[in-house]
Amino acid sequence: MNAWKPVIGLEIHAELLTESKMFSACPVVDSVEAPPNSAVDPVSLGLPGTLPVINARAVEFGLMVGLALNCEIPPLNQFARKSYFYPDLPKGYQISQYDRPLAINGWLDIDVTPESGEPYSKRIRIRRAHLEEDTGKLTHVGGASLVDYNRAGVPLLEIVTEPDINSAEEAESFGRKLRAILQYLGVNNGDMSKGVLRMEPNISVMHSSDTAFRTRTEVKNLNSIRNVFRAIKAEVERQIKLYESGDTVKQATLGWDDVKQRVVIQRYKERADEYRYFPEPDLPVLEISREQVEEVRAHLPELPDRKRERFEREFGLTAYDASVLVMEQAIAHYYEGVLAEGANPKSAANWILGGLFSVMNANDVPREEIEHTRISARQFAALVKLVDEGKLNKGAATTVLNSMWTEGGDPAQIMEAQGLAQVSDTGAISAVVEQALVANDAMVQRYLNGEEKLFGALVGACMKALAGKGDPKVVNDLLRRALDARRG
Ligand code: ADP
Ligand code: MG
Repeated sequence: MNAWKPVIGLEIHAELLTESKMFSACPVVDSVEAPPNSAVDPVSLGLPGTLPVINARAVEFGLMVGLALNCEIPPLNQFARKSYFYPDLPKGYQISQYDRPLAINGWLDIDVTPESGEPYSKRIRIRRAHLEEDTGKLTHVGGASLVDYNRAGVPLLEIVTEPDINSAEEAESFGRKLRAILQYLGVNNGDMSKGVLRMEPNISVMHSSDTAFRTRTEVKNLNSIRNVFRAIKAEVERQIKLYESGDTVKQATLGWDDVKQRVVIQRYKERADEYRYFPEPDLPVLEISREQVEEVRAHLPELPDRKRERFEREFGLTAYDASVLVMEQAIAHYYEGVLAEGANPKSAANWILGGLFSVMNANDVPREEIEHTRISARQFAALVKLVDEGKLNKGAATTVLNSMWTEGGDPAQIMEAQGLAQVSDTGAISAVVEQALVANDAMVQRYLNGEEKLFGALVGACMKALAGKGDPKVVNDLLRRALDARRG
């Protein structure tokens, strides 16, 4: 098994969040929600006599992504016709870019946590990013096929990596980081389940004795990053098995069967596709001035890496904690909202990563849904403050958090209603400690005779007597004092 190394290149298609389509003023609508064919016009239908016009906002969005991915922006861009027939492509060709793409030669650094072994960082080269238009959508019902052209002509950015990715884990962390960058830039909402963002891995395996790449397959229709991960795992395993049994891998396009958790072969590729690319005669060569590039660069928002560095520097978070907080834009946004409500940055980070994430995991709620939960940033900040002020201990705060999650509400009110307020009053705690020591006399004697490790059990006995609400620090101090007094 170790003799084989996966080789993976990703092709990513991201619909751009422009108001109008790539080559006309036709509005862009949610292609899952909107009634079929409610957003079409002569240009997106490819009617004869229509002329395309380049969407300047789409170019700007493409430049933002290119620069965020450390690409060079060539001064001349050209659109090209990619000819093929498909019912969802009414013109008989797709306007794309071929030998003069928008952005080339970039890279993205990723942090990888492998299944076994140490975490590491790695640079994945970006070959190119180019603009094109999306196709329509076919739905097959019974014996008929229905076509919806709402999506036809929606601006699409295709991003292609070099085959630098060598495991499913690396592909997953690349996918997550790229998605975060697109979200931070505001050019794509990252919703893979709706097909607004699509990631297609090209997969082959290399034997340790190989000097060249082997035949690759390509997996389509993956509706989540988790499925990109699973499909790569399954396909790598399938290819290794084939080679080890003396067989070969045939170049093919595969799909992913989410129910059976396996790849399915959709079609074999007998020979290279012949798209007969040629320059789009209806569009001018697009010049990208250096001023425009610098203008776009100067206005890039804070991207995940920079935000992570700032969280580390300003708030003293660990690199790991900061990276988890920034990797999903919704989480970063929530965290910053909690801080804006006055919570301590370090405590807030701990309570999001520990408390909130475990509740979300237990309820199977994905992290990007954080803002649709019952707990507002203000209420979460209030909870963190109650802990920091010593009004709630950790266990009681977890109980309050669970109530906030299931029923919603203000943490202080929940604390009062459930009688969870922490007892820090030294008089009250002293009294309970004394009772607990009397009740556990045998243990106290053993402790005094040198069994120091019984201290923990005695703390437990005191906490139990305080119904779990004692301030742990005060309990520890007073217990230690009471025991010392008994040593005489
Ligand atoms: P094209 O589709 O234009 O022919 P390539 O085949 O060179 O372009 O690359 C398409 C994608 O497949 C890229 O992401 C590239 O990194 C990846 N790729 C190319 N060769 C291999 C290979 N042998 N194994 C895995 N991925 C590959
Ligand atoms: Mg393409």
